[in-house]
Amino acid sequence: MQTVKLGVSSLVSSRIAYGCWRSAGTWNPTEVTPEGEVAGRRAILAAYEAGFTLFDNAEIYCRGVCEEILGRALREVSGMRERVLIATKCGIRVPGDPNPEAPKRYDFSGEYIVRACEGSLKRLGIESIDLYMLHRPDFLADPHEIAGAFVQLYDAGKVRFFGVSNFRPSLVSALQAACPLPLIVNQVEVSLAKLDCLTDGTLDQCLEKRITPMAWSPLGGGYLASGAILRLPAEQQRHAKAVLAAVDEIAARRGVSRTVIALAWLLKHPSKMVPIIGSNNPERIHDAAKAAEVELTREEWYQLLIAARGEQLP
Ligand code: NAP
Repeated sequence: MQTVKLGVSSLVSSRIAYGCWRSAGTWNPTEVTPEGEVAGRRAILAAYEAGFTLFDNAEIYCRGVCEEILGRALREVSGMRERVLIATKCGIRVPGDPNPEAPKRYDFSGEYIVRACEGSLKRLGIESIDLYMLHRPDFLADPHEIAGAFVQLYDAGKVRFFGVSNFRPSLVSALQAACPLPLIVNQVEVSLAKLDCLTDGTLDQCLEKRITPMAWSPLGGGYLASGAILRLPAEQQRHAKAVLAAVDEIAARRGVSRTVIALAWLLKHPSKMVPIIGSNNPERIHDAAKAAEVELTREEWYQLLIAARGEQLP
């Protein structure tokens, strides 16, 4: 697969990343089955075979089980660890931790960032995380405290590069101003089903600061590929149908799948966005990799944008 450099770093990633949040087949660690774990590992190995070299994870994904599944895959395949980049995230704390009355919350305290990183390293079974991200903005975060934790982890060789996720541009700037290490990615939700980043300054900042946007749920969580829109709220269904019709038209003309077109739409953005696919199905994973070879024309790109906006451009 084609490759891309992440932000201002030396990290080189496949043009599309593979995301592990569905690797356990459930969000609930008490419901994980051996078959579910095997399926998750098989999907990770399919992604590796298909040329994906950036694997995205988080401590919160099935409360660490998804990191363990990825860790097992890394141990199982000789040479895989050296050929791939491992990304993971911290900062979402589950209810009941550490005491029963604690609510779900975000925690970017220096102490927690360091502790969470050590937990991820252990579950992944690796010496160093290539890309460590803050998952969702903590309203109580102090940029200087975060920077202190980042420097501590970097100096200890536990993390190579840092990034953020779901950060608004002003918060990226506030953290970068306090942090001597570069923030190399902002992982955000963007797709033909979610256009906000195009207009809220997120992608503008990525272009200006050379931050790589990683696009989560690039298939809208699946419906841009499956066409299964019945679970969407009624008022969104008509709109989704129009988007799918536009995707289908271009897909048919080019002889590729909907998935390929929906991903190619993201890949065309000049920020050199890295979509993160989340399928657990080996065949679909191989199909998604084909998007890296497809370059949409400007006309096709705008045709899809207009369908996704649901109205003509001004
Ligand atoms: P996605 O690729 O938009 O959706 C994946 C889902 O679509 C899977 O359930 C998959 O089912 C389904 N799907 C794909 N192709 C299909 C097809 N042809 N027919 C039917 N179903 C199809 O991405 P995502 O899983 O929502 O998110 C991707 C990654 O983004 C995650 O793994 C995670 O790493 C990251 N993420 C980050 C955040 C954040 O806050 N930073 C939030 C959410 C996600 P099958 O498995 O059956 O193919």
